[in-house]
This record gives sequence, structure tokens and C-alpha cells, in this order.
Amino acid sequence: MSDTNTGKQTALVYAECAEGSLRRVALEALGAARLLVGDGGSVHAVVVGGGASAAAALQTAAAELAARGAEVVHVVDDPALAGFAPEAYAAAIGAAVAAVQPSIIVLGHTAAGRELAPRVAAAVSGGHIADVTAVDVAAGGGAAAIFTRPLYAGKAFEQRRFLPGAPQVITVRPNNLPVAEPVAPGSEGTVAALAYSAPPLWTIVRDVVRKASGRIDLAEADIIVSGGRGVRSADGFAPLEELAAVVGGAVGASRGACDAGYCDYSLQIGQTGKTVTPKLYIACGISGAIQHLAGMSQSRVIVAINKDPEAPIFGVADYGIVGDLFEVVPLLTEQFRALLGNPGS
Ligand SMILES: Cc1cc2nc3c(=O)[nH]c(=O)nc-3n(C[C@H](O)[C@H](O)[C@H](O)COP(=O)(O)OP(=O)(O)OC[C@H]3O[C@@H](n4cnc5c(N)ncnc54)[C@H](O)[C@@H]3O)c2cc1C
Repeated sequence: MSDTNTGKQTALVYAECAEGSLRRVALEALGAARLLVGDGGSVHAVVVGGGASAAAALQTAAAELAARGAEVVHVVDDPALAGFAPEAYAAAIGAAVAAVQPSIIVLGHTAAGRELAPRVAAAVSGGHIADVTAVDVAAGGGAAAIFTRPLYAGKAFEQRRFLPGAPQVITVRPNNLPVAEPVAPGSEGTVAALAYSAPPLWTIVRDVVRKASGRIDLAEADIIVSGGRGVRSADGFAPLEELAAVVGGAVGASRGACDAGYCDYSLQIGQTGKTVTPKLYIACGISGAIQHLAGMSQSRVIVAINKDPEAPIFGVADYGIVGDLFEVVPLLTEQFRALLGNPGS
């Protein structure tokens, strides 16, 4: 909690791992926590997992967090935590909360973070602000901090702050806040094992069926090359895949392309798909329906390629190319390959 004599804040970050590695949003959450507590405050982190191969991965993740400003990284390693079970993970975070007594708890706004944050907020009788895209501490941290979050699928923003007195739980949207920078050598934090008591589970993960193996996670991708009904077929995605490989990006899609069977629904971006905020979004053969814009209009730079100059996507694009995507995309790929020194080939 905040020390009532000194006003110093303590934050706890739930640092999510995926496939044995820290997700980048965990480092963004750590950056937000450091900003919120300020120079005099302290930041702890908790990593959670289990199973045969987890121990080494959790230790690697913990070392990275400790090197980037987490004073103590609590490692909850238990076979029962091998698969994601919200009740169990919330209990593991709860053990860290009990140990740290934080006034601020930060999670990534991921599928897991969205499940966990309300449970954590309820457990600490705290407030919850979800899907934060900016943190303003100009007037101070704690209850003075102002959090920006999008509303109505990105058509408006609201600014919220907490009322004093209760723990604050926030989730931060991936790709919006800077990652925590490494601390000076010698000032790294420590890593400590933390026990938790496993709660009764109401559901368990029986199996995970991976649909987009080998692809970069859309939610965390810096660059997304997205295809719409204009790609005309599953094979029509090949040039987009190639461009994405060259620029180190992920491939996404409109619902039009998914409905037409050109690609899997796991790629769908929009109101009923994923929300993404990459640095660069290249929309190929996508008209720009409002439901698609809902998932990508907050991208930093939007490039639209469409043969219809009246396509609504040009209304949100920073750069528009009127042309046939099957001519434009290979040209872009060639140019990027030359610029970036022949990667992806
Ligand atoms: C409740 C609801 C939820 C929805 N949720 C989503 C969602 O989450 N995500 C989503 O994307 N949609 C969603 N939709 C669907 C949305 O309304 C649109 O139907 C859909 O986005 C259209 O996909 P599209 O742009 O690929 O296809 P189209 O609208 O058919 O556009 C295809 C575009 O490709 C261009 N084109 C064709 N050939 C070429 C070429 N060779 N080169 C360049 N350009 C070319 C055309 O000019 C056209 O602009 C939702 C709809 C509803 C009602």
C-alpha cells in the first residue's frame, strides 16, 4: 500500500508469459508501474507458470524483469499452473498481493489480463480501469494520475482517475506504452520463489488448438499486413505473407476475407475480431467498413491499398495507394527487401 507517512507507492505487475517467454506487454506494464510510483516508489512483479519446462523460462523472465526495474520478482511455479486457469492464476497473483500489499496493480490488456484484472480488483476491493492507452502523471502518481482509454471502438477517448483510498488495478493495451528500460548495472532487483494455495477450479484447459502457429501475435505486432475480400482467394494472401515476412510483421484480415474462407478467423481484426495498434498497418483490398475500423483505426500509421479511390479506408489512411494490390504489394515487398538488406527471402 502507499506508505501513509511518506506517500510512497508500491506497485505490483503481473508479468504474463506466453510459450515460455515474457510477453512484451509485460515490460510495457512494468514501464507504466515505474512511471506511476515515481522515483521514490517501488515496483514488484509476479510471474506465474508451471509444468516440466516452466522453471527455467520463469527464471529467465524474472531476471529480465529484475533487470528492468522490478525490485523483487515473485515466481509462483506450480504444476497446477501449467495451463491458464483464471481461478488459479488469480490466486497466484493474490499471493503476491498479500506479500507486497501494493496500491497499484498493473496487468496487460490481453485475453488473460482481461479475465484476471476484474478478479484481482474484486479480491482487493479496488477500482479497475481497463484498456489504458496513455498514463499522465504530470500532476503526480497515485490518485492524481490520469488514464486514457478508448471508447466506442476507438471513436472517442475518456480520461479517468481513481478516487483515493482503494487499490488501483489497471490493464494496459499492448503496443501503446513504452517498455521499462533496463536499470543501471548493479541496481537489478532480486528474484524470490512465492508459494500460493491452489483454489478449487471450476474449469480446466483440456487442450489448446493452435490456429496461427508460427505467426507473430497480432496484438503485439509492430507491423500488420492485412487482407480483405480484395485478395480474392486463399492463395491471394501469399503476396501479403511475403511482404509481412520481409518487414517482420504479422498478417491480419477483414471479416470479409474470413467469411469468404480465404483465411482463418483467428486473423480477423475489427469489432468482432482483434483490436490492434501496430506502428504500421497496411490494409490491402479492404473497403474500410466501420466494424473493421473499430479494430485498427488507432494504428500509428495506416497505409491503404485499394483500387477504388472512393473506398472509405482512405478516410483513415495516412498514405493511400489507389491500385491493384497484386501489382502494388509485390513492388512494396521488393522495395522493402532492398531497403532492409534482403530479409525474409
Ligand atoms: C455486427 C458486425 C460485426 C462485424 N465485425 C467485423 C470485424 O470485426 N471486422 C471486419 O473486418 N468486418 C466486420 N464486419 C463486416 C463489415 O461490415 C464488412 O462487411 C467487412 O469488413 C468487409 O470486408 P472487406 O473490406 O474485406 O470486403 P469488401 O467490403 O467487399 O471490400 C473489398 C475491397 O477490396 C477492394 N479490392 C478488390 N479487388 C482489389 C484489388 N485487386 N486491389 C485492391 N483493392 C481491391 C475493393 O475496392 C473493396 O474496397 C462486421 C459486420 C457486422 C454487421
